Amino acid sequence: MPSKIIINHSENYRERSGKIRYIIIHCSKFTPEKQIEILNEYKLSTHYIISQTGSITENCPPERVAYHSGESHWLQSEEKSLNETSIGIELEAPNLGQIAEDFTRKQYIALTRILEKLCNEYHIRPENILGHSDIAPARKIDPGCGFYWFKLYRKGYGTWPNMKQKHPSNNEEELLRIIGYDTENLVAARYAFCRHFFAEEVIYNPNLQELLDNPYPKDFTPHKPAEYMSRLKATAQAFQNARQKRYWYMEKKSKTD
Ligand SMILES: [Zn+2]
Repeated sequence: MPSKIIINHSENYRERSGKIRYIIIHCSKFTPEKQIEILNEYKLSTHYIISQTGSITENCPPERVAYHSGESHWLQSEEKSLNETSIGIELEAPNLGQIAEDFTRKQYIALTRILEKLCNEYHIRPENILGHSDIAPARKIDPGCGFYWFKLYRKGYGTWPNMKQKHPSNNEEELLRIIGYDTENLVAARYAFCRHFFAEEVIYNPNLQELLDNPYPKDFTPHKPAEYMSRLKATAQAFQNARQKRYWYMEKKSKTD
């Protein structure tokens, strides 16, 4: 864990009874101090906040449940929210993560260090590191298409499609569900998938308020449907492979240690 962590614990939490399985990445346009003010105002909380300079604030210790994900689903879970089983990490991103420049090198370094510590301590599997928009596609836009998921994947966190291995299904909804998306709102799930895995399909909107009010274009269809399908099939296969490798992360660690 990075040497200096600023402690600013929230009063909004409950004791955790379930196992921690997920890490949810968020972003906010505010500084950590301002974010905490806003979280307190709405009786919310998160576990960690990483500023543009890479400083880390702990808002809630991981062994407690923080209120960061709201109504959310993954892998057809029956629970209404992933709070009980997840750790939330907020990144300060002035343009709500819509552009790559929104995230600094120091932030990625700090994030990787936290992920390393948390994944080791709680045995969180790489495919369970997700964005807020992945688990709440109709409501949330963060961490945004500017977030460089592939960079995290190369460090061993998250999942990324190998275009040489594709799932045999040609059913879009089935493929999105295999990955984990809640497809009750298919267009929202499709757009959330693109935000994470096919960012060139995401329409850049500099009007942040408009974006928050309309998290996804209601009539969205990919500009490159064949490429979209191909990427979707490869991503579904990558998630399926990752889940089959039960101790993938631990094995990888023991080889590199
Ligand atoms: Zn969020």
